[in-house]
Amino acid sequence: MALYPWQTDVWTSLVRRHRKAGLPHALLLTGSGGIGKHELALNIARWLLCQSPADDACGACHSCQLWAAGSHPDFMLCQPEESSKQIRIDSVRKVNELIYQTPQISASQVVILRPAEVMNPNAANALLKTLEEPAGESFIILETERFGSVLPTIRSRCQRINLSLPMVKESLDWLAAQGVSESDARIALQRNGGAPVSAAHWLSSGVADIQKKWADELVRWTLNQAPLDKIAGAWSKLEFQDVVHWFYQISCDMMKSSCGAGVEYLQFAEPVTELQNSVVADQLMLVRFQEKVQQMLGQLMSGASHHNKSLTIEILLLEWQALNKVRSGVNA
Ligand SMILES: [Zn+2]
Repeated sequence: MALYPWQTDVWTSLVRRHRKAGLPHALLLTGSGGIGKHELALNIARWLLCQSPADDACGACHSCQLWAAGSHPDFMLCQPEESSKQIRIDSVRKVNELIYQTPQISASQVVILRPAEVMNPNAANALLKTLEEPAGESFIILETERFGSVLPTIRSRCQRINLSLPMVKESLDWLAAQGVSESDARIALQRNGGAPVSAAHWLSSGVADIQKKWADELVRWTLNQAPLDKIAGAWSKLEFQDVVHWFYQISCDMMKSSCGAGVEYLQFAEPVTELQNSVVADQLMLVRFQEKVQQMLGQLMSGASHHNKSLTIEILLLEWQALNKVRSGVNA
């Protein structure tokens, strides 16, 4: 569980800060998804728990052994349970119980809570007091990629550590070290907002191919070359949040492209270029469509969505086709 190369500076400053005055008891790690926030949080936790820490956890003490075995009694990872997208009060109660006990092995207890913005109001309230008056030497590390969606009461009780996107060169070097060719790495970074960990996952998980197929099908649908039920049927088997996310990205791309942005600024460069050559997008309808999918995405990410998947996909497809008028002379 090594740190990513772009995390060296933030790590060094955390170590220095802890030696000087001790780290704050509640940290909020913020920054884009896919840059390694969680890996950093895990490293901090292991190091805070270590019984003979130097510039990193020692890897050999009883605490480090328990950590490696995944059974450290002074550590808790609090995240939504599988069937849910929210962190509920029961989970936060367990966090509070751990924090108010005496640590069993280490000098402190450490909790990682992620993502911080999906605590429902009851859960957040239950955490407030613990954040305000942490027991003993305990630490709570929260993670979020949507700082603005974290309740202000939570934000104000944490020290924020913002992790910026690595430089393109750092990301390319790291991806090259994972065996990714430069051309693939550039496309993967472009498609993943410059986030290298997401880019690597995107390439290795097969999402790249699924996304490409999705975009191809969208182009065919836009140009009236495929029937609605076939496309909607295929897409209803995909991860719904992915579909909504891609619709959001491609509508952003269409806007950027119609304002003259170069392909290097587009996530879906190829399909968007093809569409720009074949259709005229109604700009007002495009803005409304983008706002709609953005809102939908926010609801999905916070676990507050109750959309009928197949029906919503059909509606989005119909709205998308209505706003993109096929140019005359283009073979539909
Ligand atoms: Zn250790």
